[in-house]
Amino acid sequence: MGVSVFDVFRRVLPDSGQHKGTSNCQDKECLKSTREGKPFCSMHIEQAPYIKNILRQLADRNEEAKLLEKRSARLDPDSFFIRETLLLLRTKDFTSKALGRHFAMSNYAAKRLIAQMHRDGLAKEIKTGSDVTISGLGERDLREPEE
Ligand SMILES: [Zn+2]
Repeated sequence: MGVSVFDVFRRVLPDSGQHKGTSNCQDKECLKSTREGKPFCSMHIEQAPYIKNILRQLADRNEEAKLLEKRSARLDPDSFFIRETLLLLRTKDFTSKALGRHFAMSNYAAKRLIAQMHRDGLAKEIKTGSDVTISGLGERDLREPEE
């Protein structure tokens, strides 16, 4: 699901080997120097604005996943899972199981996400036996031919 936080850390952390000059870590208490013009050493990398932002988004996503496991809680329309699902629906329909797998959430949580998006008029919920499928309202980027 996109760029993992580890990829991001790796990109921001200094590469081993290549030295392109050193500077001082911007943490006030820290005496370490950093390589390749990186603003923070590896101990203080979480202070970099980009990393702060990523960590906040991951925390938000955890909160949203917890909300979906509750019976009555609702997601904010601007939530990560709703925005991400709208993007996914531009390519194809998703069963609740497939959506749950994609987001590493329970089938129950995926069904609640689908039900809310249906109620909010963001997508269509189609009952298929014991499962539900979510279908987008807009044009598909990769539209399959219709009869
Ligand atoms: Zn430091």
